[in-house]
Amino acid sequence: MTRIRDLAAEPLREDVLASVADLVGNTPLVALSVLAAGLPARVLVKLEGRNPGGSAKDRVAFNIIRQAEASGALAPGATIVESSSGNTGIGLALVGRLTGHPVVIVHTDQISAEKLALLTAYGATLVEADGTARPDSPRNTRAVSERIASEIPGAWQSQQFENDDNPGAHYASTGPEIWRQSAHRVTHFVAAIGTGGTVSGAGRFLKEASDGRVRVIGANPAGSTYDGGAEAEILVDGVGSRWPRDWWPHNFHRSVLDDVITIDNYTVYATVRALAREEALLLGPSSGLAVAVALQVARTAAPGSVIVVISPDAGTNYLTKAFDQAWLASQGLLTPTISAPTPKDPS
Ligand code: PMP
Repeated sequence: MTRIRDLAAEPLREDVLASVADLVGNTPLVALSVLAAGLPARVLVKLEGRNPGGSAKDRVAFNIIRQAEASGALAPGATIVESSSGNTGIGLALVGRLTGHPVVIVHTDQISAEKLALLTAYGATLVEADGTARPDSPRNTRAVSERIASEIPGAWQSQQFENDDNPGAHYASTGPEIWRQSAHRVTHFVAAIGTGGTVSGAGRFLKEASDGRVRVIGANPAGSTYDGGAEAEILVDGVGSRWPRDWWPHNFHRSVLDDVITIDNYTVYATVRALAREEALLLGPSSGLAVAVALQVARTAAPGSVIVVISPDAGTNYLTKAFDQAWLASQGLLTPTISAPTPKDPS
């Protein structure tokens, strides 16, 4: 009773956000208390799934649309076209709603049912392209996006692989947040590589802020050529490259990285399950990939190291894939493999 009276006596202060835009960023860092127990380093996971559209790509979508509007490249009401594995599309669809731009997303049949439903819910127009088409084929997502953009008057392609405002978003927000949240103690930064925007942008900020002390490590899925290895099927959503080895998209700034570490598919999905079971953290497959790298680095790190690892999105978008036994079994992901080392260039 007293407590209720005390509260009622407090002066009223409004605590209201102006719009969903104010929910982007400032995501929490949470320590792995079970999986990293006994290791010399602390492992802190940055939960990008807490962004309003559910992933780190909300930062990118806001930044690239804001900058394109400011430069005049994106006219008021003009259509945005992007080829996306899901998260960038969802971010763009969300920001498109707030800023009055129609959004067309070109995707493949590998996209999860949950992400497809989200894109539809945010009102994006969906176009399916051939996920098996080679990067240089006219039927792949990028080529189809080009064609669609040329057919819609005034359409603008956000081009997440080439647009500097993608790594720019992480340089301006993700990196500074990690620096502040870790009280400048971060020693290692780990992020899975898709376009390269996260690892390049936040990685560069952390390198600069620490005078080069922070080690920046890219997490690479099996089958991706980002480690200079041979191409094979990639079973982790949103990450990895099928471009020829030693060719990197514009937004993957290889020189920012100290290392690229590849993890086999079984370990990725076993880590996703362990995060849910041991830490009650329901995260997506690329988070499992990055956390597996972080734990590997933690095992041999100097005592007192602080490893910050990005979780790009939450597991709720993968309930019918990463958390579905039948899907996992159908992809052979429940059986450990003795992974052969990825063949490297003789050079
Ligand atoms: N995880 C998921 C699920 C993604 O969709 C992406 C972006 N494609 C990434 C990780 C990698 O982020 P980036 O593009 O910044 O390298």
